[in-house]
Amino acid sequence: MQHYLLPILSVAMAVVVNAQNLLPTPLSVSTQGAVLPAPGQVSVTLKGDANAPSDEMVREIAGVPLSRIFCSPHPSHLKPESYRLDLTGDNAVIEAADYRGYIYALHTLAQLLQSDSIAANITVSDSPRCGWRAFMLDSGRQMHSVDVVKKYIRMASMLKMNRFHWHLTEGLGWRPEIKALPLLSSVGGYVADGEGQQGYFSQSDMREIVDYAGRWGIEIVPEIDIPGHSEAALYAYPELGCRGVRPEIPRTGFTSDIFCAGNDSTLNALFTILDEICALFPGEYIHLGGDEAPKENWNNCPRCRARVEHEGLADSHELQLWLSTRMAAHLASKGRKAVFWEDVVHNTGPRLPDNAVIQWWNYRGHGNDAVHKAKSLGLPVVLSPNYYCYLNFPETPWRGYENDRTFDLADAYLRNPAHTEISRDNPLLMGITAALWTDYGLTDDMIDNRIFPRIFALAELMWHQGELMTLNQLTHKITGISAYFSRQGFVW
Ligand SMILES: [Zn+2]
Repeated sequence: MQHYLLPILSVAMAVVVNAQNLLPTPLSVSTQGAVLPAPGQVSVTLKGDANAPSDEMVREIAGVPLSRIFCSPHPSHLKPESYRLDLTGDNAVIEAADYRGYIYALHTLAQLLQSDSIAANITVSDSPRCGWRAFMLDSGRQMHSVDVVKKYIRMASMLKMNRFHWHLTEGLGWRPEIKALPLLSSVGGYVADGEGQQGYFSQSDMREIVDYAGRWGIEIVPEIDIPGHSEAALYAYPELGCRGVRPEIPRTGFTSDIFCAGNDSTLNALFTILDEICALFPGEYIHLGGDEAPKENWNNCPRCRARVEHEGLADSHELQLWLSTRMAAHLASKGRKAVFWEDVVHNTGPRLPDNAVIQWWNYRGHGNDAVHKAKSLGLPVVLSPNYYCYLNFPETPWRGYENDRTFDLADAYLRNPAHTEISRDNPLLMGITAALWTDYGLTDDMIDNRIFPRIFALAELMWHQGELMTLNQLTHKITGISAYFSRQGFVW
């Protein structure tokens, strides 16, 4: 048990946050006693014998100076990621069975302490709905600074998410430094024309980000897209493609220049890339992409055709599954799981290994077919139906997003097919990823406006186990919590 003393700074801005406005909504909140001004100083006690947040993390989440008193450990029987918070006057007692439980309780406490006034006694018992709660950022199409990546890792933690899916490779840019293949980043990070599309993440940057995410309770799921969306990599190393020449870099979309599946040296290069990625990112899951891979080049490539024949495959679509199974098996040998976009379940072919996870995205193209197909294969599913979970789809038309590619807060919350699927209690459904692609030049200054307020609805679906609110109730709750988020640097 650890004991902290937190003097709370006075808040000049009038804010209205109370136990009813906590977001995401806790499983249970009870309040007793008179409503009083929020305490100006709080002592925090962390109960339990799990790895606890450092003084710095408690201070950073609470946003106040901290003095600390050690107490003896005390085993907790709460479930993973769950917590109990008792706030009585100026005394907060937090019980959790793991690190994330403490982090989530501290976020709840921080929201409560921003109130003008709160009940004298508040008890929060909380536990997540979904085991997988993620935010995805596309740093392939737009390069991001380390600080911008950290900002959205912090946002994910504040919304009680536990994963940050980091899309790192695209036609417009290869971002992760790979020591064995240095041109991937030094050339592939600079293939696009745009000012905001230049650069890469050094291995030191990535370690710093992994470490930062871990402190906020977030596991990073890095994505290396194989075999498509790989023009930047093939520009750096044309010999990894079928044609052996530098491809055209697409301004939008993707081309048929994809990694050659018939060339053993390409496979070995991909294994090498995954080896370095696994060394950098210690989490359980590595995302292997697998989406939008046109087969024209493979159909015309002698080595790819020879591979199809040698492996007894029906066609180039089965070749993609063959390649995917090879990559997933490589990750399995390292104790990792492989996430694929749903494209890999729309064709028959070699069966994906048991460490594969399917990410449902193409609701517009295939409805919920991917969920059914993954279920028939016995593979777990992460839910990101694009019309409702792709936050780059704006609320009103913008650039390449016409009317039929827009959605609003009510769509995200009340009509989200991810919620419908999870409500069916399919044990293979792991949870939800809210995604932000940065195509059409979605720059840093636009991100908050795209994400908020709809990210609140998605976080609510990921976390809260109870009935849905009405739209008015959700809007009221968002209004109540907005000032807190804006003070944390999220402005929309
Ligand atoms: Zn080929």
